[in-house]
Amino acid sequence: MRYRQLGKTGLWVSVIGFGGIPIQRVDDQTAMQLVNRALNLGINFFDTARGYTDSEAKLGLVLRERQQEAIIATKSMARTREEMARDIEKSLRALGTEYIDLYQVHNVQHPSELEQVLKPGGAIEALLEAKKSGIIKHIGITSHIKELFKDALKTGFFETIQLPFNPIESDGIPEILDLAAAHGAGVIIMKPLAGGSIKNAALALKYILEYPVSTIIPGMDSLQQVEENASIGSWSDNLTPAEREMLNREIKEIGITFCRRCGYCRPCPQGIDIPLVFLLDGYYTRYGLTEWAKERYRGMKVQPDACTECKECEDKCPYNLPIHRMLVEARARLQ
Ligand code: SF4
Ligand code: SF4
Repeated sequence: MRYRQLGKTGLWVSVIGFGGIPIQRVDDQTAMQLVNRALNLGINFFDTARGYTDSEAKLGLVLRERQQEAIIATKSMARTREEMARDIEKSLRALGTEYIDLYQVHNVQHPSELEQVLKPGGAIEALLEAKKSGIIKHIGITSHIKELFKDALKTGFFETIQLPFNPIESDGIPEILDLAAAHGAGVIIMKPLAGGSIKNAALALKYILEYPVSTIIPGMDSLQQVEENASIGSWSDNLTPAEREMLNREIKEIGITFCRRCGYCRPCPQGIDIPLVFLLDGYYTRYGLTEWAKERYRGMKVQPDACTECKECEDKCPYNLPIHRMLVEARARLQ
């Protein structure tokens, strides 16, 4: 396994990390086997979230015993000081550890959310207090909106950024990587297989590793996946011309009709959270988290059937997605 520096944190992370979403699907015993195997193969970076139901608890079954070998990252959607302090405590209890290496502000979608995190009484205060007391070691931020990282990194609070990057979602990546390097921030790559759209995982991971990212966190829920992904972490060569061509062929076949969660379609006059519908649909169709996705869909404040077909969102979508038709299809699966 190869290791890269996680920005200025001083941590060295395996180039292949362990994404904690799919572990929700397996039982405790399988989860323990996967985490132990990953550690034994040199994977030392584990990323989870408050929002991934029992993922923290499942990772914690092993990581609390082998914490010296692991770097644990988790995250919370909390935006206020009070909520964030509560979530840090909950994460520590679920993981069963005395500290967490990296605590991230999860999925900041809009500049106003970042403002909320940073203003007096915002989540950053709880994170800084937790860092001072040693229960978290570093602070990071995750987002699908690349422009947000510019403002976030300027604050000097965030030591890592986490963002989606894969062979079909690569727009603007070199600029973000330059920005991260200029601020000494570690770069954690999520959605390396575009939410399961890319089937040739080895080529996609190899493609991403050609860039100066710190670690990639594909989700894993089988020993075979852990072993295959870990083996890619020891390759040091770039894609061969034949592999690049194979990857390009697959990208062409996948096409471009999928939501990149950039958020430019917001706000919908009816209040529909369009990217959230497509995110849940992706979990349903690509990750097999059918009940999880349906439950969250049912909890949405405004359902897509409120759509009046005004098409305002379609005019704003930089990828020209047929949003209304896609919403109808997602609704048929999720309702
Ligand atoms: S077409 Fe539907 S989803 Fe899009 S902005 Fe109009 S009401 Fe909202
Ligand atoms: S539907 Fe289009 S504009 Fe809206 S988040 Fe997805 S890609 Fe962006």
